[in-house]
Amino acid sequence: METVIEIKNLTYLYPTGNKALDNLNLSVSKGERIAVVGPNGAGKSTFILHLNGILNGDGHIKVMDMDMEKGNLPRIRQKVGIVFQDPDHQLFSPTVFDDVAFGPINLGFSEKEVRDRVREALEEVGLSGFEERLPHRLSFGEKRRVSIASVLSMSPSILVLDEPSSSLDPRSRRELINLLKGFDITQIIVTHDLEMALELCKRVVVMDR
Ligand code: ADP
Repeated sequence: METVIEIKNLTYLYPTGNKALDNLNLSVSKGERIAVVGPNGAGKSTFILHLNGILNGDGHIKVMDMDMEKGNLPRIRQKVGIVFQDPDHQLFSPTVFDDVAFGPINLGFSEKEVRDRVREALEEVGLSGFEERLPHRLSFGEKRRVSIASVLSMSPSILVLDEPSSSLDPRSRRELINLLKGFDITQIIVTHDLEMALELCKRVVVMDR
């Protein structure tokens, strides 16, 4: 199996001296869907922020044959799409179109390509035709799906989701699980939702301090 993420001896101290990651090792294979679980404060968010170089601890991280270093960050950030827990932190544009188009526009695609990507990404999350809607007026479940679309529009190879099922009602949660089940790209799902982890993931990584 091709390895898409390789992390060796990753340690991270916050400037406060708080050791959030202590010698973390993990490999993820292409197409794998893994759950990362652990109590609050275990370091899950800190771990995620290392996957596209927002944080930079000691140790070694490789994403699809690219070492985590400054020169590779633009490509790594296109390959690793992170969906944050709070959609209000991810969505900031006046329309759904603008939010989902933001990544592709930044990657320099033509207007037509941007439009095509937005349409396809919204289709993938079951929100076709939502282009002109206002993100802040959507339901929480719809916002979560627009957040996912805003990452899918960059055609990532690895999708990282922080607590994707949190704050969803049972029906939206079910729709989300079915959605993630349908994607064949590599997924790293940080969650407290153990039933979802069991249903979606063959492997569960437990973090504790
Ligand atoms: P989790 O996502 O599993 O709840 P975090 O990665 O948020 O865990 O936190 C891991 C540890 O790092 C905790 O002890 C937390 O208090 C600490 N921490 C998180 N963010 C910061 C920060 N910005 N400054 C200092 N310590 C932090």
